[in-house]
Amino acid sequence: MLHRTHDLISPVPGTGRQIHSFHFGPTDGAGKIYIQASLHADELPGMLVAWHLKQRLRELEQTGRLNHEIVLVPVANPVGLEQVLMDVPLGRYELESGQNFNRLFVDVSDQVGDEVEPHLGDDPQHNARLIRASLRRALEAQVPNTQLQAQRLTLQRLACDADMVLDLHCDFEAVAHLYTTPEAWPKVEPLSRYLGAQASLLATDSGGHSFDECFTLVWWELQQRFNHRFEIPQGSFSVTVELRGQLDVDHHTAGADADAILDYLTDFGAIAGTATPQPELLYPATPLAAVEPVTTAAGGLLVFHVLPGEEMSAGQLIADVIDPITDRITPVRCTQPGLLYARSLRRMATAGMVVAHVAGREAYRSGYLLSP
Ligand SMILES: [Zn+2]
Repeated sequence: MLHRTHDLISPVPGTGRQIHSFHFGPTDGAGKIYIQASLHADELPGMLVAWHLKQRLRELEQTGRLNHEIVLVPVANPVGLEQVLMDVPLGRYELESGQNFNRLFVDVSDQVGDEVEPHLGDDPQHNARLIRASLRRALEAQVPNTQLQAQRLTLQRLACDADMVLDLHCDFEAVAHLYTTPEAWPKVEPLSRYLGAQASLLATDSGGHSFDECFTLVWWELQQRFNHRFEIPQGSFSVTVELRGQLDVDHHTAGADADAILDYLTDFGAIAGTATPQPELLYPATPLAAVEPVTTAAGGLLVFHVLPGEEMSAGQLIADVIDPITDRITPVRCTQPGLLYARSLRRMATAGMVVAHVAGREAYRSGYLLSP
């Protein structure tokens, strides 16, 4: 195991933070897997899974079972991890800029396309190598101005040439679910099975330049641009894995999730050995554009009638929102049928707030598909 540290820009004198990456297995170019946890720093189930993975990967490396390089970053957001305001951890948005830590990763597709265009040929593997090298150079050439930009760029450089990127997050209160692209779904479906994911949400471009998409989109955009002249493979695919809710941090669950990821990596060929047979898929993949963010029209005490993991019918009552002064009760219902995979942790709703998410089957939204 190789432990590397990556210094971030120091925002003020006398302070300094680093990203720590742990590298396992061969670096001969046979394949690379990148796994990070807690990019939203108050989403900690993935950090515990990463810790379990770290112990297991050390053993697998020592027994010579790693076919591919595996890079693990258990603390992807040291900037956000330290943000605690009046006893409340605030790990989703940077306090200084208000920006979501998982948005605005840099898009270098045009630059990479311009650089590789004269050198592309008929061999897709040759094209993939050219694009990877160009991508690395383009990201190395970026100069960050702020600590936040430095953090984003460090993570992006570590992951840009990986064949597979797993970004471990969680929701507020939720069942296991994941986000990936329709193009990558055939490769990701076994992961959904091993993890017991109850929703798999697919979108090619959800509009936020999130970490997972900055890798798949480069290849997708180059495919669109050179489609008719050169064969551009899908050089990388990525998954945002939502490991249930924020409070689901325990050894039993994290150990099982680490096992699921190792089974998936064995099935994929990154680890030598025989994988556990794939369990059944608990819920089919659905378009992210079919997810209904269920909102409340009024503020008040939020009292749920349903739990994450329950199947909803159209118009089903999800919660009451109670105004204890007027005694008005506002029912909150979903409009589409589907699986309720996540609900809010807050119990005092504000008017317009999203209280739950339901994975429907029919796409009906377009444009920007993520939360802010
Ligand atoms: Zn997250």
